[in-house]
Amino acid sequence: MTAPKTFLVLGGGLSGLLAAWHLHRAGLEVEVWEASASVGGWAQTLAWPGPDGEPGSLERGPQGLLVGRGGALDRVLRELNLELRPTAPKGPRWLGKGGRRHPSPASLGGLLQAPGLSLAAKLRMLAEPFIPAGGMVDDSLHTFFARRLGEGFARELLPALVAGVFAAPPERIGMEALPRLRSLEARGGLLLGGLRAGLGAGPGAGLSGRPGAGRERTRLPAGGTGALAGALAKALGCVRRNHPVRTLEALPGGRWRIRGEDSGLDVDAVVLALPARVAADLLRPLAPVAADRLGGIPHLDLRVWHSRHPAVPGCERGFGLLLHPLEGRGLLGVVGLAADDPRGVPGLLQLRAYLGGAYPVEAELEAWPGVFQELQRWLPELAPPVQTRLEQAPGAFPLLEPGHGARAARLLQELPPNLHWLGGARFGPGVPDLAEGIEAWAETLKR
Ligand SMILES: Cc1cc2nc3c(=O)[nH]c(=O)nc-3n(C[C@H](O)[C@H](O)[C@H](O)COP(=O)(O)OP(=O)(O)OC[C@H]3O[C@@H](n4cnc5c(N)ncnc54)[C@H](O)[C@@H]3O)c2cc1C
Repeated sequence: MTAPKTFLVLGGGLSGLLAAWHLHRAGLEVEVWEASASVGGWAQTLAWPGPDGEPGSLERGPQGLLVGRGGALDRVLRELNLELRPTAPKGPRWLGKGGRRHPSPASLGGLLQAPGLSLAAKLRMLAEPFIPAGGMVDDSLHTFFARRLGEGFARELLPALVAGVFAAPPERIGMEALPRLRSLEARGGLLLGGLRAGLGAGPGAGLSGRPGAGRERTRLPAGGTGALAGALAKALGCVRRNHPVRTLEALPGGRWRIRGEDSGLDVDAVVLALPARVAADLLRPLAPVAADRLGGIPHLDLRVWHSRHPAVPGCERGFGLLLHPLEGRGLLGVVGLAADDPRGVPGLLQLRAYLGGAYPVEAELEAWPGVFQELQRWLPELAPPVQTRLEQAPGAFPLLEPGHGARAARLLQELPPNLHWLGGARFGPGVPDLAEGIEAWAETLKR
């Protein structure tokens, strides 16, 4: 079989756009089909005018991206020549636990004042650099952190930090969700390097707030994540919007025929960069075992309440609050944009509150009044909103359970030739993980 020269990428979210970007740069012929009218998938910046029609926006997905200097995402952003601005809140960061706010344990000082930790547990955390690397392939994040930083940390602090990033308990998440933890461990220190910049950055830094992100900064193009997706699509010039895929057909010689609503295309290779459920349905007639494996990866639903409130003194530079998951009754965390964030409206504090994921949401928090009451429990200074908006994110988060890596490897083996599968369930759920994974995947095609 000769090396494929023509590719069809299905799905115009960041995975599909990044894949097409690498294929295009390698001189291959590529087209992208996106079902909806807009590119970006979850990474879209939606207009949300202020109460008097002032310009403003919100993010469907990431509020900011952890961009590591010299990393894959950094390379893409530089080549696209996008103007980047910092997005992480520079104001206070808190952990909500025991009914009140504490300084975030994302700093060493915060760690030492952290609630619920005995002196012995704090000393155990400080011993982390002396703990040798090790562990099992199918460790959970709980097991890993308990071994590195002690049971006290894993029980009292980790759940909030992990829920603010993955919306699930650390016992249910495998090491694949944080692909660089092992290499960080091998270099000998989560505590001093990674934790400072990584986990605990809060839901504002979002899913990619990974430990070990020492040289990473939370950044975003001036126009939000939508500007990144838009710039990729423009540079590619081959994205067909409103163009959902309907069926895949294997042709002789390892080629593929793909049908949309009213057209078809024959190509050498296909890239599935679709929501897992959509990809599994397409695959089922051709590769039922792979389809079942893909469809069997659990995905979590999240809901995000956006609200604008009168400004709160002390929060001009934004803030982050993570809640110990069970205490939040379904509310996992909230982040406040800095007053100068162009997505906000002058004079108002723009919040984004996360609920759900793997955690049950109590009945009162199903609607805004209950969410606001819960927010006020942790932020009594917060006045009633002048605007609210709910954005649902159904199935947005792949839950990479312990042992996921081995299952994903078996899934890849079950795929027919010249059919590729990309996305958060393969590379890790954060955009930097996607960028790195997709760059490495594109390299393998050159061999
Ligand atoms: C609320 C939220 C917060 C997040 N926060 C962060 C964060 O802070 N940091 C971070 O790094 N990541 C974050 N993420 C994760 C990040 O947004 C995702 O990992 C990333 O956007 C996934 O991109 P994707 O292209 O793999 O999937 P998607 O964005 O789901 O894209 C899939 C695309 O396929 C299209 N499609 C569906 N059906 C068809 C069809 N039949 N034919 C053609 N196209 C189809 C869809 O319309 C969509 O455009 C967050 C996600 C959410 C939802």
